[in-house]
Amino acid sequence: MEANTLAESPRIIAMMNQKGGVGKTTSSVNIGAALADMGQRVLLVDLDPQAHLTLHVGLDSTELEHTVYHLLTDDQVTAEQIARKITDHLTVLPAEVNLAGVEAELAPKMMTGRAQQILSLGLLTINGLVLAREVVVPMQAHFLALQGLSKLLETIGFIRQSFNPDLTVSGLILCMYEGQTILAGEVLADLSSFLDQSRQQDVPWRDAQLFQPAVRRNIKLAECPSFGKTIFDYEPNCAGARDYKALAQAVAAQKISD
Ligand code: ADP
Ligand code: MG
Repeated sequence: MEANTLAESPRIIAMMNQKGGVGKTTSSVNIGAALADMGQRVLLVDLDPQAHLTLHVGLDSTELEHTVYHLLTDDQVTAEQIARKITDHLTVLPAEVNLAGVEAELAPKMMTGRAQQILSLGLLTINGLVLAREVVVPMQAHFLALQGLSKLLETIGFIRQSFNPDLTVSGLILCMYEGQTILAGEVLADLSSFLDQSRQQDVPWRDAQLFQPAVRRNIKLAECPSFGKTIFDYEPNCAGARDYKALAQAVAAQKISD
């Protein structure tokens, strides 16, 4: 996700979690849409071989001539050619299911040195993390959440060492949050104390915020993708829309150090 106003240099944010079903697509689409509504110019880049983000914004990837797949595999194809404008301020670089093939096509070209070590990450993920300046981690307040997060942060540390010295983790988003449960409260406390302990360390997540608010579980958020709509077009006054709007404001307000 890339958001900027004309006055500032763009923020390039990778929404990442190796785990599926945690809220990456939902958060990317709806934070992106909320930022665009606030007047920021937003480019959403779908690097998911399932093309869920592309579908969520109402594009049919089978009808697109070019997608991110062509951008990555064909030198003749430019980003301008594949870009699709969704609203005035919101543009998408769409994906398609063929994108999974990028791994097989590009992997042999990368089979050197340390690149080999991290191929298990997936080339699409590596590309995203090399290009990004920030990582935001959507996650759920589950048992073992902290364990999964530690692994993820280790990976981000490795990418920073190997390819992208500027990469930082700017924050965590709690998705499908059920605040009334004891478990959610315990996980939240664990995450906060983990982040607090990292403040003094030389790690890419030393400045990471636990973004507020957590996004409550809200069925409208699960319904809107099948209509090809963001939550703001589908049900602008529901809890999910309010949470994502406030969250986008928190992300936009964050001070990013150079
Ligand atoms: P990921 O991209 O990490 O795989 P998704 O964003 O697709 O995760 O979310 C997984 C599923 O949960 C989707 O069906 C989505 O619509 C649903 N979902 C996401 N966030 C919420 C929420 N806050 N409340 C209810 N359902 C949600
Ligand atoms: Mg997804």
